[in-house]
Amino acid sequence: MNKTELQQQDRKHLLHPFTDFHDLGRQGTRVITRAEGAYITDIDGHRMLDGMSGLWCCNLGYSRREISDAIYEQLNTLPFYNSFFQCTTAPAIELADALAEVTPAAINNVFFTGSGSEANDTNLRIIRRFWDLQDRPEKRIVISRKNGYHGSTIAGASLGGMSGMHKQFQPLDYIEHVQQPYWFAEGGDMSPEEFGIYAARTLDEKIQELGPENVAAFIAEPIQGAGGVVIPPETYWPEVRKVLGQYDILLVMDEVIFGFGRTGAWFGADYYGMKPDLMTFAKAVTNGYFPLGGTLVNDRVAEVIKSKGGEFTHGYTYSAHPAACMAGLATINILRNEKIIDTVRDVTGPYLAKRWAELADHPIVGEARSLGMVGALELVKDKPSRARFDEDCTAGAMCRDLSIKNGLVMRATGDTMIIAPPLIITTEQVDELVEKAWRALDGTAAALA
Ligand SMILES: *Cc1c(COP(=O)(O)O)cnc(C)c1O
Repeated sequence: MNKTELQQQDRKHLLHPFTDFHDLGRQGTRVITRAEGAYITDIDGHRMLDGMSGLWCCNLGYSRREISDAIYEQLNTLPFYNSFFQCTTAPAIELADALAEVTPAAINNVFFTGSGSEANDTNLRIIRRFWDLQDRPEKRIVISRKNGYHGSTIAGASLGGMSGMHKQFQPLDYIEHVQQPYWFAEGGDMSPEEFGIYAARTLDEKIQELGPENVAAFIAEPIQGAGGVVIPPETYWPEVRKVLGQYDILLVMDEVIFGFGRTGAWFGADYYGMKPDLMTFAKAVTNGYFPLGGTLVNDRVAEVIKSKGGEFTHGYTYSAHPAACMAGLATINILRNEKIIDTVRDVTGPYLAKRWAELADHPIVGEARSLGMVGALELVKDKPSRARFDEDCTAGAMCRDLSIKNGLVMRATGDTMIIAPPLIITTEQVDELVEKAWRALDGTAAALA
């Protein structure tokens, strides 16, 4: 099929995720056909630096034969077997073993799923089982944060705090949401440090209001990704640690974006010095080459689930799919052997931080923040008051379109431009990224003037 035919048939037959079908019908889809290294190419031959690593997953870029070969060899040896009914496969065991090595010391168990959303469903099942097995059936409520993203199944979307999603289904009634640590949008007159403490204290207030005996867990992303790369003020996580230290409440860190090196540490929990009971992972674990997710479980929780009798009635057909596990193993091996996470921490991360900060000088940028291999730009009409251009976030959408046209994939979350480039990006490519972002900002400013 040629481009026009593909677009026509797409409109006819394909329901896309998170898409306004009316808009899509009018504009047509961009057909991506090839990718290599940190670049993708569309059907018109337009080559773009992929500032989003696919969808936060292709951390090693698109050209790793070791991963595709590992998948192919596995498919030719044992393409599928399940891990139900006392069965297992070597890839599942080897990946579980490798994960125990790269995760924090107290985390030594994993439950595999097919995606991050499924893994957050699994978290709810494990949390409930954990408290029930200890005769604490009243511990039911899970606290999450407004504007968090935890996937799109009923559990994932209920845990998430996106009001636009909640309007389109009936969220689970045992999930409560507290303040997100988004200083730029919601910090008002507080300093970022004050606001970090304030946001963490809303968790304490909510626990007190509900009664700590009724609260099972708190779930959060280390840094909110889909919510707009919300990097919390430095005071936030230490204060959350203090709050949770007062109560017997599990901490779940959703590491689907920040796991496997994006902060310059293996996990966001390592970066922030947190000790989660459970960690959700997906996306970058296979470098996006094969669907895989899971829940990493610490010894305290795993001990209870494993040692008390009775079947844990939960699992997915594709839990620990052997080809997915081989993709995960190959990815972890590359991250380790090539010391890619150290490079992000010591070289490319600091370089991105320096260059990205220069974008704050642009007339329509109210804040340029970054950490490791993520960054965000807040587009504003007025810098001191942080006032936006309009309610409809036209600036963000415009800037994204211009950026793509210029050969850089940036994403817009409202009027916040976000990037999450592959961890293998070079300093020269960081220069290219910043230069292209600046040009997109110029174009946006000119169009809005
Ligand atoms: C993408 C994402 C998920 C959902 O993962 P899927 O594989 O799309 O189901 C969950 N949590 C976070 C933080 C994510 O970014």
